[in-house]
Amino acid sequence: MQAARLHEYTADMSNALSIDEIDRPDLERSDQVVIEVEGAGWCQTDNHIIEGMWADYAPQDLPMTLGHENAGIVAETGDEVTLVEEGDPVICHPVQTCGICRPCRLGEDMYCENSAFNGLTTDGGFAEYLQTNERAVIPLPDGVDPTEIAPHADAGITAYHAAKKAVDELNPGDTCVVIGVGGLGHIGLQCLDAMCAADIVAVDIKDEALELADDLGAHHTINSVDEDISDVIADITDDEGAQQVVDFVGRDETTGLAPEIVAAGGDHHIVGYGGHIHEPSQALVDGEFSFRGTLVGKYAELQELVALVERGAVQLRTERHDLDEINAVAQRLEHNEIEGRAVVLPT
Ligand SMILES: [Zn+2]
Ligand SMILES: [Zn+2]
Repeated sequence: MQAARLHEYTADMSNALSIDEIDRPDLERSDQVVIEVEGAGWCQTDNHIIEGMWADYAPQDLPMTLGHENAGIVAETGDEVTLVEEGDPVICHPVQTCGICRPCRLGEDMYCENSAFNGLTTDGGFAEYLQTNERAVIPLPDGVDPTEIAPHADAGITAYHAAKKAVDELNPGDTCVVIGVGGLGHIGLQCLDAMCAADIVAVDIKDEALELADDLGAHHTINSVDEDISDVIADITDDEGAQQVVDFVGRDETTGLAPEIVAAGGDHHIVGYGGHIHEPSQALVDGEFSFRGTLVGKYAELQELVALVERGAVQLRTERHDLDEINAVAQRLEHNEIEGRAVVLPT
C-alpha cells in the first residue's frame, strides 16, 4: 500500500514526506482493528512532528507514517473484537489505550501509561490502511461521512475538550474569548456556542476568519491587526476581563495577553502551541488566573463530539487532497493558507 512517511526531521516542508510503497498492516493482537482510511486530517502538529519538535516528548522510530486524525471503514477485526465488524464506518481516537492502567480506569485516556499514538509514536493514517485497537474506534451514526469527520479525531476533540473545560466555568453573562479562528478555533467556537450561554468574542488577524466566526455564533469579533485586543475586551466586559480565554494560537503574543484580558479567577487555555509563556508570577497571583494545558481529549469526549456533529451543531470547513499532494498541504498550512481543515484521502 502507499503511505506518506517521515524519514528525517526537517524544517523544509516542500519535500518532508515521501510516498512509500510498504506492506499493509496486519492484525498482531486479537483486540486490533485494521481500518481502510477514508480521510486523514492534516494538522499543525504534523508540521511540528516533521520539524522534530516532538522527538523529546514522544518516542519516534523513523521512518514513520504520519496522520493522527483518521476515519474510515473497518477492513479486518481481531478475534476478541465485538464493538465493530468489517464494513462499519468509524472515527479513530488517535490514542490506543490499554484500559487497565490507573489513568485508564479513571477515564483519563490521554494519560494512559501503555499507549500508542497514531502518527506520533506509531504508524498513522496517511496511508491506505491503519492498524489500531478496539478501544480507539467509535462507530459512526448513519449519515455521517468518514472523510468529512476525520479531522474531529484530533482537531475536533482537542477543541471540544478545551471548550468543555471552559464551559464548566462559564455562567450566562460571562465572556469567553476565542483566539484564532482556524482549523481548531472554528470548531471550538461552535462547541462553545452549542454548550453555553456566555458572550463569545472571536479574535483573529484575518477578516475572512472573523466573518466565519460571526456565521458560527460569535457575539463580537476583533481584528487584532486593526484593534487593541485588551482595550476592546475591557470595553465589552466593563473592565472585568473574560472569565475564560481559549487560545488556539499559543504564541508569545497571545499568551502575553492573559494578565490584561483574563478576569480574576479565570483561565487562559493553551491549545495551539509553539511559543513560550513569560508572564510575571505576580500577575498570576494578583489576578489569580491560571494557564491550563490541553492534551487532545478523552474517548468519551469524542463520542460527545460525534453526537454534536450528528445533530448538526458542529460543522467542519474542509478541503480535500490526494495523498500525493501531501507536501503541498504541509507547506500551505505552514503559510497559514488553509481555510478550515485539509483532509487527505489516501484511497
Ligand atoms: Zn492534530
Ligand atoms: Zn492505560
